[in-house]
Amino acid sequence: MGSYMGFDMVPRLSEGLVHKQNWQKFLNAIKERYQNDDQVEVKPNYIAFKADPDLLLPFECHKFLRFGAMIPNEDSSGLRNYIDTVSRVAGVSFGSRGYCWNEGSGVLGFYAWDDVKRSIRSYEQFDEPEMPTTIAQLVLGTDPISELGLPLYKAQPVLGKGQGLVARFNIAKGQLIISEKPFFTTSKIASATTMEKQMAIELRKLSKNAQRQFLSLHNNFPGKQPFSGIVRTNALPCGSESPIGGVYPTISRINHSCLPNAHNSWNSESGYENIHAVRFISAGEEITIPYDHGGTSDERRRYLKDAFGFDCDCSICSRQPTELKQSDERRRQIQRLDAAIGDGLRVMYSPKDCLRDCRVLLQVLEEEYEGSHGAHLARLYYDAFQVSIVHGDQARAGVFAERSYRARAACEGEDNPETKRIRILMEDPKRHGSFGLSMKWKSLKDQVPRGLSAYGFEGWLWTGK
Ligand SMILES: [Zn+2]
Repeated sequence: MGSYMGFDMVPRLSEGLVHKQNWQKFLNAIKERYQNDDQVEVKPNYIAFKADPDLLLPFECHKFLRFGAMIPNEDSSGLRNYIDTVSRVAGVSFGSRGYCWNEGSGVLGFYAWDDVKRSIRSYEQFDEPEMPTTIAQLVLGTDPISELGLPLYKAQPVLGKGQGLVARFNIAKGQLIISEKPFFTTSKIASATTMEKQMAIELRKLSKNAQRQFLSLHNNFPGKQPFSGIVRTNALPCGSESPIGGVYPTISRINHSCLPNAHNSWNSESGYENIHAVRFISAGEEITIPYDHGGTSDERRRYLKDAFGFDCDCSICSRQPTELKQSDERRRQIQRLDAAIGDGLRVMYSPKDCLRDCRVLLQVLEEEYEGSHGAHLARLYYDAFQVSIVHGDQARAGVFAERSYRARAACEGEDNPETKRIRILMEDPKRHGSFGLSMKWKSLKDQVPRGLSAYGFEGWLWTGK
């Protein structure tokens, strides 16, 4: 056994010229450093470190996610030295973007290994886009694709769903797909007639172009109240559980799935709704977000029909009965565990049980959402953080806060106020209001055990004291 370590590029570099030039300088420094080392070889598309087959630095910077490997206990090939040195050079070249991690010290990598392996496989195909120098100069230092006015998505008809948003390019997990301000926000008003009048007032304030965009949105409730019908079909809550909803020119066209590939979040500071990819999305694939509040397929479908006026036939709801039953059982278990973990008395008097439930929930979520469960993870790790900090355990709380921060940053952005709040707690867990209500698990932040295997570390983390 040993433990994994390395560094990730967070966020990943773009194909813009400044990033390319910085990457080239970084590669030159690495080549110079190892020019007399026959264990480091320059191949046609990457620099290879023979100590481990995954230890590669591609020439195309936008493909790079991770430089890391498992360091065996008997490190005869000097693997740790290579990773240390390359990580340090990356730190000089890219600052905090070179995210160093070491599982033995409880700091996990940012990307999932599946995504890393996929990126490594792509090193072999050199797919540098042909771009005239003049255009490349125009877009100096930025992502040429977005600068040329091509968004990552396009609106087009989707089979059985009217309009939808489809990925124009491959989209990496954690990437911001679209950020948009609402036409207007609206709160739930009791009478439909009052709402219709209110909407007419709001609409009049918009430009002619915005009015046209609004009226072109789908309406699942045709009838005497067309404006409120459009709002009902298209509004997204501004933050989970918020009574305020927003209607958007583009985001409102994103369809629902019970197994979505993207996550929507409201940034209350900027007043923008943001959509991030929660897994790798292939070019041509429909972009989807969740409109539902959980529960079994029947419960979700009933809610979606009632609130938004459509019948869900997503990849889960259209499964065969046996498979659907398994999914329903997991969804029920998720609800049960959520409720148990959120019980304040249990957090106080049975913290070990709460942590155990968090760990079980983690497994169930992974199984049900097939790895695209970032938003759930952020909440789950935050719950585990709270269990630890209430009992004065800063060591575990720090690890959980960091995992929660990383999950949230990937699906809601680093500039989201909630992400920023968790970052502060990650750096200093005792700033949480409930710190030390009990001190029965008292520990300091730096009392995270070192030198454990990944398995041993998880054992320590989830057991509590
Ligand atoms: Zn569904």
